[in-house]
Amino acid sequence: MWANLPRVLALVVRGFALTLAVLTAVVVIRTVTFPSYQTSPPECKVTDPDFIPADEERLARFTSAIQFQTVSYERGVGTPQELAKFVQFIQKSFPTVHSSPMVRRDVVGNYSLLYRVEGSDASLQPYMLASHLDVVPITEEANWEAPPFSGQVKDGYIYGRGTIDTKHTLMGSLEALEFLLSSGHQPKRTLYLAFGHDEETHGHFGAKVISKVLQQRGEEIVFILDEGTMVVDDFFPGVSKPVALVSVSEKGSLVVKLKVQAEGGHGSMPTKESAIGILARAAKKLEDNPHPNMFGTGPEARMLEYVATEMTLPYRMLSSNLWLFSPLVGLLLSQTPQGNAYARTTTALTRFTAGNKDNVISPEAEVIVDHRIHPMQTAEEVLEFDRMVINDARVVLDVKDSSSVFPPSPISPHGKDSPTYAVLQKTIQQIFPDALVTPTFMVANTDTRHYWNLSSAIYRFSPCAMSVADLKRIHGVNERISIKAYEKVINFYYHLISNMDEPLDVQHHGHTDGL
Ligand SMILES: [Zn+2]
Repeated sequence: MWANLPRVLALVVRGFALTLAVLTAVVVIRTVTFPSYQTSPPECKVTDPDFIPADEERLARFTSAIQFQTVSYERGVGTPQELAKFVQFIQKSFPTVHSSPMVRRDVVGNYSLLYRVEGSDASLQPYMLASHLDVVPITEEANWEAPPFSGQVKDGYIYGRGTIDTKHTLMGSLEALEFLLSSGHQPKRTLYLAFGHDEETHGHFGAKVISKVLQQRGEEIVFILDEGTMVVDDFFPGVSKPVALVSVSEKGSLVVKLKVQAEGGHGSMPTKESAIGILARAAKKLEDNPHPNMFGTGPEARMLEYVATEMTLPYRMLSSNLWLFSPLVGLLLSQTPQGNAYARTTTALTRFTAGNKDNVISPEAEVIVDHRIHPMQTAEEVLEFDRMVINDARVVLDVKDSSSVFPPSPISPHGKDSPTYAVLQKTIQQIFPDALVTPTFMVANTDTRHYWNLSSAIYRFSPCAMSVADLKRIHGVNERISIKAYEKVINFYYHLISNMDEPLDVQHHGHTDGL
């Protein structure tokens, strides 16, 4: 038997070399032949006769919109008077929209707005453009370069709370509609505009009610576009062009409560283990054992594949061969908190409660864990994983309460076989001709959480170009948008509405999605 060893070894080495050669060949061939997912439709130009400029009047309407302090503080606690004034302002600012016989406007849930623009072809399914009227509160007011509700223009930028989240999409879509209706155009396809008034506090009194109204009308919406991810510079390593990120899903959330009850007593004669000690160990286990890396199983993999052909070589090779490199890319991604949020269900220990006296051993301890669920996982799987990791019967683990579970959203169709994604991609590339369009998911939630019953094609995308550095201004200090960027927002909606007059059809490239 031992006499055969050299032969066996030689066979193993040869087999290994052969496998390596085949793998290398496949990797090289795929890298070279990987299909492009990008298109180049006719560009929207400033010189086009129907280009909508952000002239003085439109700019004034936008800066005025920023001055309404439509802040949402917490569920059910907002600024009703400001909302009412803002709604009046909108009515006054867009006279054609508000007087056209084609438009029906309903005020829903006291302040939210729902517009129905009647299309000329009743056989076409309607679509919906969503935004919201409210904004988040101001933080660090002293550090703002312009007062946060001034709408002041400085160096080509409009400053103020809501400029990016999301009065630009709200006012931009209304400007486009006003322009269209003023020029005597009736859209072929019926269009809804839906503006909730409490998105920042989960939309229970706005979007949720809008959704009910539409459901009662029996509406099936062909697609919904709401605020969301944007056109971002320097987002991917190895990609020099800006990337338009279209979110086709949203992460879910799950708040878990861990509780331990143990013997209490006096601090002078402690038992071997305390409730605090047992719970602290369990909590640390959760932190040390993250949920499985899901990279490659959901839309986050498409995010790289759709830009693969535009990447520099090493990145291009990795992104066009995720069948092989998913684990490696997932590992690389998980090295930063931002990347990790795309790679897996995240675990954040957010609150620890125990004890109330220096010399008394607390008989119980509680910790709250905030999970954001990856689109390819379920809340049940997350709970089960936590139990397995903790593996201690003394730790009682439960969903905090009925409002603490929110599953990941269904994944909307994307890619070349999806006509709704295609019309969005076309419009984006008309307005942002340099940009690459790619699907992703959101780690935060939007009003679309209330719209799942209306449409299976829900996209979260704000037609606005931003640098990565500027992203932190959203919900932060010095939120701003450039005049040029706002102009693009208006023209994006104009082109989208125009494109929706054409039949919704898939692009035929003879290539099926789902590599
Ligand atoms: Zn928002």
